Amino acid sequence: MKQEKLKITILYDNCTLKKGLKSAWGFSALIEHQGGTLLFDTGAKTDILLANMKVLGVNPKKITDIFISHNHWDHLGGLFGFLNVNHKVKVWLPADCSTTYAAEVRASGAECVRLSKSSKISKDIYSSGEMGKKIREQFLIVETADGLGLITGCSHPGIVAMARRVKQVFKKEIALIVGGFHLGSLSAAKTRKIAQQLKDLGIKKIVPCHCTGEKAMSIIKSVFADNFMAVGVGSIC
Ligand SMILES: [Zn+2]
Ligand SMILES: [Zn+2]
Repeated sequence: MKQEKLKITILYDNCTLKKGLKSAWGFSALIEHQGGTLLFDTGAKTDILLANMKVLGVNPKKITDIFISHNHWDHLGGLFGFLNVNHKVKVWLPADCSTTYAAEVRASGAECVRLSKSSKISKDIYSSGEMGKKIREQFLIVETADGLGLITGCSHPGIVAMARRVKQVFKKEIALIVGGFHLGSLSAAKTRKIAQQLKDLGIKKIVPCHCTGEKAMSIIKSVFADNFMAVGVGSIC
């Protein structure tokens, strides 16, 4: 069935809320929108990614695009193993991944594009373009009738800066943010400030996971209350 509304299924995460699914450090999510099926990141290990897909009834062959957020093993480690199963895909790498790496992706039979600037991926789906100084990272933006959906890997450039950039470029409200926020090393006061800044930006639903950090997660929950969603492998948001 054609998926019209945005549907995000967590395939790989540090935790799982459902039996029969495997959790491990890393992140991957299936993005279904307007009939398209895209894989956001691949987690660290292909066998875990594919095992979770099987349990969740996701056919790897129906994926047409793979979007890689940044050049960290826990986000692209599963890529080549996945390409062994399905290479009829277009891989959208951040330009931070080398031309050699891109050539290896192409050698598998897949198409491959390296992105540095904001670009259109498919209907209503865009890359933010790379952000950040030390670790370059891109994130995914989906335009929906309810507002923008923002899917992020680790948010190394800073989740608030990323959300601000998206609002500025698209001139629309952010309905949803899903992914790792990477706040574990910050003090409670700093984390609270970030959570409040996100709330002040008008973000309706917040779904932090992966590398966000447990303490940070509970602070964000206290700020967003009912608009906070706890997820793990198998969750749909
Ligand atoms: Zn990560
Ligand atoms: Zn990372």
